[in-house]
Amino acid sequence: MKTESLVPTSVVGSLMNESQALLQLQEADIAILRVKKRLDSLPIKAALIKERTKRNEIEVKASQIEVLRAQGEEQAEKFQDEDAELADKIAQCQKSIDDTKDFRVITSVTRDMEGHIKRREKIEFDMGLLADRLGKIEDLAAQAAKKTKQCNDRDAELIAEYRKAGIAGQAEIDAALGRREEAAALISREHLDSYDRIRKVKGGIGATKLEGNCCSVCRIEYHDSQLSQLQTGPDISTCPICHRLIVVRGA
Ligand SMILES: [Zn+2]
Repeated sequence: MKTESLVPTSVVGSLMNESQALLQLQEADIAILRVKKRLDSLPIKAALIKERTKRNEIEVKASQIEVLRAQGEEQAEKFQDEDAELADKIAQCQKSIDDTKDFRVITSVTRDMEGHIKRREKIEFDMGLLADRLGKIEDLAAQAAKKTKQCNDRDAELIAEYRKAGIAGQAEIDAALGRREEAAALISREHLDSYDRIRKVKGGIGATKLEGNCCSVCRIEYHDSQLSQLQTGPDISTCPICHRLIVVRGA
């Protein structure tokens, strides 16, 4: 009695025959490809890129706002300096007026003083406008800071999600690599080489199995002669249609 016929299809390790090992190898490789594809197409990845682009735009705006604020503050300082200077000048004029009785001097100094007072009034008005502008700039800066924080929080969330998915995916890949290694050890060098060569040019699928009168991958029904040739041949052969390794029996 052949022991092979008593072996269930779920056998593992050294109890596996080459046909079963080849199909396990194929299953493991498909599993690896699927996980990699899944990780590559994760919506998180696209969302992360979108979020980063948004954050960069906000950062550019924030730095423009900072430039405006610095310019405004510099202008305010200039106004304050000029205003203080004018206050001194007005005090000096007042002193000159108080110290003299010469009408012409008084008239001339008064004219200067009025000029300084007018300039101070103009500065006060401009300072008011500038204060409004600086207030608006302040609001914009606060908005930008809030948006930057939101982006950073979302970014951290997405990265955590991506890592989690990546870790889960890596565990699946590691498990599949384990099954692959176990299977590969039971497959002949010749079949392994053919399998690797074929799967590279056939969309990742190098092995198939006979199901009824067709191959489980290309699914084109064989002619009687093709079928009988397979059935009388070795356990592992080549599909005459798609040219993949085909497990005829033993799986
Ligand atoms: Zn085929």
